[in-house]
Amino acid sequence: MKVYIDGEFFEEAEAKISVFDHGLLYGDGVFEGIRFYGGGVFLLDEHLQRLLDSARAIHLQIAMDLAELREAVLETVRINGLRDGYIRLVATRGSGGLGLNPYVCRRSSMIIIASTIQLYPEEKYRDGLTVVTCSTRRTGPAALSPTVKSLNYLNNILAKIEALHAGADEGLMLNEQGYVAECTGDNIFVVRGNTIRTPPATSGALRGITRQVVLELAKEAGWEAGEENLTRYEVYTADECFLTGTAAEVIPLVRIDARPVGDGRPGPATLELMRRFRERTASCTTPVYP
Ligand code: PMP
Repeated sequence: MKVYIDGEFFEEAEAKISVFDHGLLYGDGVFEGIRFYGGGVFLLDEHLQRLLDSARAIHLQIAMDLAELREAVLETVRINGLRDGYIRLVATRGSGGLGLNPYVCRRSSMIIIASTIQLYPEEKYRDGLTVVTCSTRRTGPAALSPTVKSLNYLNNILAKIEALHAGADEGLMLNEQGYVAECTGDNIFVVRGNTIRTPPATSGALRGITRQVVLELAKEAGWEAGEENLTRYEVYTADECFLTGTAAEVIPLVRIDARPVGDGRPGPATLELMRRFRERTASCTTPVYP
């Protein structure tokens, strides 16, 4: 496996960055996760644009424009001869001193890894995930906009730890007001009758790219789909519930805080959206190989 770092490719064992990099010392950086299917990168520009926006928001200069980033991503997949997998881009503040002043870091670093990923085992896509509500709240926009896909995932990790210790697959995270934000690394949707709802970004949800695609797919399929502030009541009383994310794709949620969701099995809307999502991943792609 060859890893891209600042314009060069390194063998996995040699792909290293400085211990003085502020990405490591302070979580000072941003990242993206992108899927590729059958030799085509899914929604590449949307992900790269979000990376550039996240970087702008934290005043991190990325010394590459969209076209250069696109080429670097494609080359990383190509050099590894992959057709299906997952790309991780990490932009760090770069190497600096042992203080948090970011401006002592001379230049930011860009890391691109192309690999494979399986977030949940296959049977979870068939049988669904179990979820518990976590006491750890999602970082609110007053502290750090949830729109920034930053290297600061500690509160999500603490929530994931809570969920795993409770014997659940995933953790539901609320915002400081008690509204549903998202799960620890995925957006949440609830289905009730003909409506499909997901919390707005202002509730503490990342503006997920999969979330956006699923909202579009749901509307195309005739559901009334959109954003709405949700409480746990809406989740507990939903007909169906599912999560979306680049790595997770669309995955059913069948149990929340000991309550079965709907009849406790993945529902028809979820299954239909899983099918439509899979279909969609064959288009909206940038070819890796000429
Ligand atoms: N929420 C969080 C906190 C995430 O980290 C992610 C990405 N893994 C998502 C939601 C889903 O976003 P996307 O569909 O763009 O991958």
